[in-house]
Amino acid sequence: MKGEFQIGHIARIPIKIHWTLVLFLPILAWLIAVQLEHVSDLPFVNMDPTPLLTEYGRIYAGIVVAVGLFVSVLLHELGHALVARRENIGVEQITLWIFGGLAMLEGIRNEPRSEAKVAAAGPAVSLALGAMPVVFLLGDPGPWVTFPVIYLAYLNVVLAVFNMLPAFPLDGGRLLRAFLAMRMPFGQATDVAANVGKGAAVLMGLGGLLFGNLWIVFIALFVYMGASQEAQGARLFDALDRVRVQEIMDDDIPGVEPGAFVEELVPLMLRTGRTGFPVLDGDRVVGVVTLSDVQEVPESRRSLVRVDDLMSRDLVTIDAAAKASEALQMMQEEEIGRLLVTRQGRLEGVVTRQGVMHAFNILQTIPRSELGELEEERVVDLDASEWAR
Ligand SMILES: [Zn+2]
Repeated sequence: MKGEFQIGHIARIPIKIHWTLVLFLPILAWLIAVQLEHVSDLPFVNMDPTPLLTEYGRIYAGIVVAVGLFVSVLLHELGHALVARRENIGVEQITLWIFGGLAMLEGIRNEPRSEAKVAAAGPAVSLALGAMPVVFLLGDPGPWVTFPVIYLAYLNVVLAVFNMLPAFPLDGGRLLRAFLAMRMPFGQATDVAANVGKGAAVLMGLGGLLFGNLWIVFIALFVYMGASQEAQGARLFDALDRVRVQEIMDDDIPGVEPGAFVEELVPLMLRTGRTGFPVLDGDRVVGVVTLSDVQEVPESRRSLVRVDDLMSRDLVTIDAAAKASEALQMMQEEEIGRLLVTRQGRLEGVVTRQGVMHAFNILQTIPRSELGELEEERVVDLDASEWAR
């Protein structure tokens, strides 16, 4: 996400904060402080704020509960992240922002059992935090401790219950998708879960409007957009599961020599309609050069700078027999626009993000039944560093 900054690590996971939270946290503290007397009206829990209804008491409660709430959200996300790691799913980072937290996980696809465990872990942590007041059975430390702890426990239970709503992309929706995916194809399961999520979001939004709670309307909107986005993503990957990289790669791509000058690349790009080329030293691939590399060189210097001065030597390769969906996932994870396609260590072509999206547009016009599933074929992983040497 743009506009976030790192505040530290927990268990080697970068923890980041988005600027919206920096703005929101004092507002939240203020809202808690000025509405402190109303907490006694909240259902199910008997919270008595009376001892804290002084100026300092309100400031104290506002800050402790607001900060405590986001610490709780962080612990909820850590629950997701640590279970994900145990399931061998990479954890990129955790971001805290105005709508709570996001644990960014890598490639959680088509493993419903893992996804179910990961999705359940967050609400489980929140529920456990909801049980915090149990410690007061050991002794009463006084209202300045018990009040914020009971308040936070209450908010954690609300958090757990809200997240367990079967509204994709909330945790409950992910659990629903995981259970569906054990019985039907992943893409279809996502579609169903997304539709349930959209339905729940519409109800939530209407409820918010009815009770004049704009906050709920915002969250409903957020859930609706999340559900649409996830469904779209699933459709994309579902379609790309049906073709192999070799079917959509560009196998007619010219290589350029490392000693060529940058000015030679522009006419080559115009002539071939391609914006990236493998750099070949003999028949060895030593790099990749793209339009954005060329753009970094001022026009006056393009006759002086050689391709091997600016090419990227970090070669990311994929096997020709891999699924197109794996290529897209790899490009997303590495944040690059093209992959070198190899077969038994030999360069066969290049697959680009554009090529993948182009294939998706075509695949969408073909009924699923006509393509069928690809047979699972073990893909030989090639070490990219072999190419660089
Ligand atoms: Zn969660």
